[in-house]
Amino acid sequence: MVASIKPHRDEIGLGDGLMLIDGTWTAARDGQTWDHRHPATGEEVASFPVAAAGDVDLAVRAARRAFDDGPWPRARASDRIRVLRRVADLVRSHGDELLKLQALDNSVPLSFGSVYATSAAFVADVFDHHAGWVDKLAGETLPPYQGGDHLVMTLREPVGVVGAVVPWNAPLLLAAQKLAPALAAGCTVVLKPSEYATFAVLRLARLIEEAGLPPGVLNIVTGPGDPTGDALIHHPMVNKLSFTGSRAVGRKIVEASADGFKRVSLELGGKSPALVFADADVGSAAAITMGTVTLGLSGQVCLAQTRALVQRDVADEFLAMAEMIGGMVSYGNPFDPAVTSSPLINTRQMDRVLGLIARGQAEGARLVCGGTRGEGDLAEGNFVTPTLFTDVSNDMSIAREEIFGPVLSVIPFGDEEEAVRIANDTEYGLAATVWTNDIKRAMRMTKAIRAGTVGINGYQLEPHAAFGGYRQSGLGREGGRPAIESYTELKTVLLPFTEEMM
Ligand code: NAD
Repeated sequence: MVASIKPHRDEIGLGDGLMLIDGTWTAARDGQTWDHRHPATGEEVASFPVAAAGDVDLAVRAARRAFDDGPWPRARASDRIRVLRRVADLVRSHGDELLKLQALDNSVPLSFGSVYATSAAFVADVFDHHAGWVDKLAGETLPPYQGGDHLVMTLREPVGVVGAVVPWNAPLLLAAQKLAPALAAGCTVVLKPSEYATFAVLRLARLIEEAGLPPGVLNIVTGPGDPTGDALIHHPMVNKLSFTGSRAVGRKIVEASADGFKRVSLELGGKSPALVFADADVGSAAAITMGTVTLGLSGQVCLAQTRALVQRDVADEFLAMAEMIGGMVSYGNPFDPAVTSSPLINTRQMDRVLGLIARGQAEGARLVCGGTRGEGDLAEGNFVTPTLFTDVSNDMSIAREEIFGPVLSVIPFGDEEEAVRIANDTEYGLAATVWTNDIKRAMRMTKAIRAGTVGINGYQLEPHAAFGGYRQSGLGREGGRPAIESYTELKTVLLPFTEEMM
């Protein structure tokens, strides 16, 4: 059996497990709580409040007051920058604790915390990056269209109260990707973390509070989609909804936004391709592609490149390396430094992944390795063995549906044209990597692929680079100028200054 998580919980300390409403750490008014079951052991390790509609209403009203009357939206740029930089420093100095809480939440192994994109350093950099935008949120001055002495200017102003909803797979990073630009722009926020990853976000909120944010500017409501998320996205005092998660819930967010025409940003799923050409370093391509699908979060990653499009001549070489990487995965207690990969977040998701694997086999794909539930010591957790399919065609379920598990599908192709056709034959469009040593081919492929981010011979997230999806992978971008601008409204100012024009 995987060793109990409880001793680690006792060592880290969870605080009081309360949520943050109007500057006060509080339980739900009706006393409801959610018991968090750890994905690696199945044991109940902690509980937190379930905010009902009344609690959410208090949180949104607090954010509304803080926006309409409070100091944050009116603060000098230098004050806002100082607070956000302090958040970044506190995240860095509490990095170990935050990653342990994340391991308690979703079982992402501590060994993975040194990888930049999943580290506390990245989360801190997101706050630093957005702090840098505060004094650069500039409008424009336009020349008069019809002549005469007047000025036409634009101003960027905070959009108002933001309702943010995030998933469980990278709770700190995904919360930071919303909180940092929203706060930098001068908005106030009510954020709902996932019911499967709450504790790290609660600790992050304590650090943000400690950094000097005025009460009511940041509120955290905890609980599941129903009732907590639903009450937040439908609240009439919310001006903008910012969501990361599944397409199914994304659709509900868009529907909820219609009432009152709330602004919307969506970061949704993917079925991203890695295109591996025969002239590439095939070993690296296979190691990195299989690694991102099986190490760390075990493929529970929106940008995971779960369709490996491999040129026929090098398919065997690719498969051999990918299988070897799959064999290096080590499951268990996420606090054990030898553990490389996480279980699936809950039994529902494990059953779904196993069901899709069975469908892959039934539809004619060849299973190279994995495809089973973890046994023996792993039997109490939600583990699925690292799975590699080959001879996959792009119309099979495993090539079309986001599996969100440790499953890589290898799809052979002949030439560039076929590779592009398969790569773009998806409803999604989040990410892709092109593996080739021919720069001209790399650029041809990059231009042809319909995806928000394309890596060439590697894929490294950066906090200042815009990230988001084409098509059903989302709406809007996180990171960079597009992110902070999405938390603003644009105001046009008309200023005639001659007598005739007034
Ligand atoms: P999910 O959509 O089930 O849940 C996401 C959040 O929405 C959770 O906080 C959940 O409680 C909340 N929610 C559920 N029902 C709701 C409702 N009716 N009203 C309001 N909120 C509701 O997604 P998940 O399983 O937590 O995460 C996995 C998904 O997230 C995958 O599809 C993955 O690709 C996507 N994701 C995308 C990105 C990105 O940046 N594009 C990053 C990470 C994850």
